[in-house]
Amino acid sequence: MPTLGTPKNTIEILQKYNFTFQKKYGQNFLIDTHVLDKIIRAAGITKNDCVLEIGPGIGTMTQYLAESAGHVTAVEIDAKLIPILKETLADYDNVTVLHEDILKTNIRALAETYNGGRPMKVVANLPYYITTPIIMNLLEGGAPVDNITVMVQKEVADRMQTGPGSKDYGALSLAVQYYAEPYIVANVPPNCFMPRPNVGSAVIRLTRRQMPPVRVSDPKLMFQLIRASFNQRRKTLQNSLSNAAELPFSREEISSAIENLGLTATVRGEELTLKQFAALAEKLEELHKGR
Ligand code: SAM
Repeated sequence: MPTLGTPKNTIEILQKYNFTFQKKYGQNFLIDTHVLDKIIRAAGITKNDCVLEIGPGIGTMTQYLAESAGHVTAVEIDAKLIPILKETLADYDNVTVLHEDILKTNIRALAETYNGGRPMKVVANLPYYITTPIIMNLLEGGAPVDNITVMVQKEVADRMQTGPGSKDYGALSLAVQYYAEPYIVANVPPNCFMPRPNVGSAVIRLTRRQMPPVRVSDPKLMFQLIRASFNQRRKTLQNSLSNAAELPFSREEISSAIENLGLTATVRGEELTLKQFAALAEKLEELHKGR
């Protein structure tokens, strides 16, 4: 049975190993069993699942995952946590701890080794300083991952789930929603962690889509347009795209594509839906090819 997840047991193990928290690694350990139960339930883990946990810390959530999953691979960057994990996970023979940086880990190889190449589920209380690169690597990198349930900063969870018209809407919203269906499972206050973070947190589940929700022949171009639009958020779409050196389109091509979509000349990128960005990419490509 899990033994961590309470303040008392967490403090005991930290003191035993004389562990000091490393701010640079985003270390805020979970000390609330209700939150842990909620995460495991939301992830829908069964004994048929192979789970990748990012940043196990002292193994709090790893114990819960090991109870419900077939196999857990836990990737931890901090060398000081490895001997602690050896002790806290000693009772579980279905856990592999890797001392690595998750941004350099070959996730496809992990799926091959532990799940015969089939998709894994990712469950984590993420280190907040690298939330976006971790999520984007998992979604864009083509690794076999079909379901991601993670604790992130509340504001980042909102950004992933929102649409046009909100101040939180941006390139991350569109990228996440192209690849996955986001669902905020729960908000989690700072007192559920040790030490307490300065921000509110939320658990979000991203279910990978079988098919993208929009059809676009060159998704890379669509994401270039999205990034360029939100890089200069206060400018009109016309100006943001015309100023973007990485885009090959003339000012005339951009304005006629915008007009063709039935948008006004002063529209801003933040007003466009994913469907409209897809249509814009298609139109620009067509106009550019037909030159
Ligand atoms: N899972 C534990 C829990 O819930 O109590 C710890 C979560 S803590 C928010 C984030 C963990 O990620 C820390 O253990 C930290 O050392 C680890 N971490 C930070 N950067 C990492 C990286 N690049 N690769 C792997 N682990 C990392």
